[in-house]
Amino acid sequence: MKNNSIKTLVRENIVQLQPYSSFRDHNEFNAPVMLDANESPFGECNRYPDSTQKELKNRLAGLKNLSPSQIAIGNGSDELIDLIIKIFCEPKKDAILMMNPSFAMYAFYATINENKVLKLDLDENFEIIKSDFLKISADPSLKIFFLCSPNNPTGNSIDDIEFYLQNFKGIVVVDEAYIEFSGKKSSLELLDQYSNLIVLQTFSKAWGIAGARVGMAYASEEIINLISTVKAPYNVNVLSQELILKTLDDESRLQENVNRILEERTWLKQQFEGITCISKVFSTDANFFLIRMENIDNVYSKMLEEEILTSRRDPAIPRCIRINVGNREENEKLINLLKRI
Ligand SMILES: *Cc1c(COP(=O)(O)O)cnc(C)c1O
Repeated sequence: MKNNSIKTLVRENIVQLQPYSSFRDHNEFNAPVMLDANESPFGECNRYPDSTQKELKNRLAGLKNLSPSQIAIGNGSDELIDLIIKIFCEPKKDAILMMNPSFAMYAFYATINENKVLKLDLDENFEIIKSDFLKISADPSLKIFFLCSPNNPTGNSIDDIEFYLQNFKGIVVVDEAYIEFSGKKSSLELLDQYSNLIVLQTFSKAWGIAGARVGMAYASEEIINLISTVKAPYNVNVLSQELILKTLDDESRLQENVNRILEERTWLKQQFEGITCISKVFSTDANFFLIRMENIDNVYSKMLEEEILTSRRDPAIPRCIRINVGNREENEKLINLLKRI
């Protein structure tokens, strides 16, 4: 996709919009007298956060080998999904495309914005059928394709992402919430080649900081400027920004977290093998398993009785439950119960 065509995808009212911008965003002071934002001069968390998230972006830029101008930070990647839809999709006119099954939040935000949701049914191995994609993506109302890889709730990675970037005339959002568990290459390396690509990542899964609500969008400077323009100025709070910066100081933390989860994932997979109520364990690139059960009603109610929470996916995915990789204690409780059924 040619660079100058991004602008033609943006809603007219967003093109016109002036970003909210505070004096502090563009100036630095040593000992400021801060009487400009109606904050309290007293207290511990009395100041508004840096709305440009400068320090965080600089750190992430170093980590990802990108420019800070290619990074937007959201109150979770959920917020970024919402903003991306608002930027490109005219209510009651435009549509999004998503895989089916996939992450529910794309349809949630599209529906709130009054955009149609077209669904691309996956095959029995949860792969995209390319001929179906080519057919459905010809719909002129489509502005965004949400491509979740590894996909939630199926767990598999999607191959040949460049094919979709080349053959979709709108924005392709590659949601990499689980990429760290996959061993697969991130689509970040395609950013230079494709101006219609947005990559979403998050601190909620492999980093283990879901409570802080911090997610990232990586894209061209042009798209990042649009996101910065429409976002709430103080969308990522002071405490979360500080916590993330502190976490990034500990360079080994991410890999340690991932390694622990992968060890538990391997252990769980072995344990599942001898369990009779399980009819299929789908292969996974994420921190969860999609599992087909013999008698899902019975299994699920037994799990609830013992207060083991899992995510039922039927009837959308027949007889399937999505189960997180937990810590060893949680995993043992799960396995012990399943063995008794
Ligand atoms: C969990 C998840 C996210 C993360 O959302 P946050 O708002 O960053 O917590 C994004 N996409 C998918 C597919 C997910 O499963």
